Parts: sequence; structure tokens; C-alpha cells
Amino acid sequence: MIKMEKYLRKIGNEIWFTEVDRDNLKLDYRIKDIIYSENSLLQQIMVLDSYDFGRMLVLDGAIQTTALDGYIYNEMIAHIPLNTHPNPKNVLIIGGGDCGAAREVAKYSNIDRIDMVEIDEQVVNVCKDYLPEVSGDLSDPRVNFIFEDGTTFVKDKRDYLYDVIIVDSSDPVGPAVKLYELEFYKDLYANLNKDGLMVCQSESPIFYSETMINIYKHLNSLFPIVKMYMATVPTYPGGFWTFTMGSKKYWKPNPDKFDKDTLYINKEIIKSCFAIPEFIKRLLDMN
Ligand code: SAM
Repeated sequence: MIKMEKYLRKIGNEIWFTEVDRDNLKLDYRIKDIIYSENSLLQQIMVLDSYDFGRMLVLDGAIQTTALDGYIYNEMIAHIPLNTHPNPKNVLIIGGGDCGAAREVAKYSNIDRIDMVEIDEQVVNVCKDYLPEVSGDLSDPRVNFIFEDGTTFVKDKRDYLYDVIIVDSSDPVGPAVKLYELEFYKDLYANLNKDGLMVCQSESPIFYSETMINIYKHLNSLFPIVKMYMATVPTYPGGFWTFTMGSKKYWKPNPDKFDKDTLYINKEIIKSCFAIPEFIKRLLDMN
């Protein structure tokens, strides 16, 4: 007997998961199987096996990543900053509980340290156990898991700074709200070396343009260089997805240097992903 959770419905013999994006937009996915469903101390965690997207990680009813297209997002959030910084040694990931970003970062043998600060240890354990398509095995000894709120972690002083910081956060609800505030970005700035850079996912330019604009403005008030790039991720409502990079020095990617084994990113994508549609340029006052 299947235990039906919030967000799941049975219609005849079929199980459907509904992602409520907002009042007037709901997305329904037909589910083959509920692989995992538990509450952690912070959020409800589900791994669902869906017909069209394969296994998916769902936190508090919001899809985070799927076996079908998780690589697009994870490659974009990891390789674009790592290709832009000429010699990253210390990398910090904040969030990223599905481990997909860490898996991509670990492809760089020149990186010495990969600190991953995730607030919810249970998300990492569940993804390692039930979502290997996204997490990989992540046995790389350079990945140092730290289970703590990212906003607290960046307040502490360490005897080293980072070259690249990747903010792979969930949407701005619950514990992730503070990851979208100016105060947090100021702390990231302070944790970066003098030629360091950071990137964060900056949401849909169509459905969450206000969040995207706020991130861009915050980063512009701190960093001399701010660049936005884009990818299409079918799992995320609207498909269109933005990433915003704040940099102290480097801004030009080095596509010719790119030599990693990837499914989405290649030299052409690295060159073209910074092309910004006109409506976004207007929203961001870029012209
Ligand atoms: N790619 C995904 C997306 O765009 O929806 C996000 C991936 S990842 C699963 C997001 C992670 O951020 C979650 O595992 C969540 O627990 C973590 N998170 C949320 N707030 C956090 C915080 N304040 N500090 C550290 N991690 C946080």
C-alpha cells in the first residue's frame, strides 16, 4: 500500500506529483514510484521516479534536480566560473545537496580544496543513496562536506580564502531566503581572494524576474564585474534559467582551454551562454 504524501495524488492506478510554482501555475508529473519520502529537521525530502524525467529530488514540493536534465544546471553552475578563473585552487559550494555541482567541480585536478556547505545532511545522504545519476559516487577526498547554514559559515574567519564560490541554493523560501540577501553576498565577497569570483543561480527571467534583478543589483553594488549567463533547463518552470557571476578581476571565459567530459557544456556553449536576450538587458538596465 503506497503512503500518499502531500503533493501526491492517486488518479485510478496512476500517481501524480503536483509542483505548485505559484497560485496560477501548477505542473503535474506522472510518477512510477515513490523511492523515498521523509521529513528532515528542515524540510520534506522526496525522491520520486517519474515517467518522463526519471528520478527527481523534491524538497518541500519543489523539484530541485532530475536524472533527465540535472547535468545541464550542474555543469553550467560549475564549469563556467571554473573556466573563467584561470587557476582556481580553493572552491566553496554553498547548498548543492544533490552533489551534482561538487561532482562537476571534482573534474578539475588542479583544484586542491572543495568545501561544500549544505544545511541539510539528510539531503546529501538521500541523494548519494537514491540519486546516483546526479550525485555520482563523490568519493573524491578533496570534497569536504560541512553541514551548516551557509550564511553562518561565511561569517567565520578561516586562514584561507576561496578562488571560486558557487551558490547552488534552492529557491528563496525557508532556509534559503538569506542566501539571496545583500548581507550574504558581502560575506561571500570577503571570503574571496583578491582575484576571486562567485556565481549563483538567479532564477527564471520570465517568472521570477524580480529575484533575478535583485541579485544582479546586489552583486553590482559589490563587484567591479558582474556577468549573467543562461541555459535552458526543462525541469525548471519556464525552462529559461539564469546564472549571475560577480568577479573581482576575471570576466572572460577561456573556451579553448575547456577539456572536461560533459554532456551539455562545450566550447561553443561557453562562448554563447553570455548572450543575453534584449528583454533581460532592459530588465537589468544593461544597455
Ligand atoms: N539546483 C537546485 C535548484 O535550482 O533548485 C538546487 C540544488 S540543491 C538541492 C539546493 C540545496 O540548498 C538544498 O539541498 C538545501 O538544503 C540547501 N540550502 C538551502 N538553504 C541553505 C542554507 N542557508 N545554507 C546551506 N544550504 C542551504
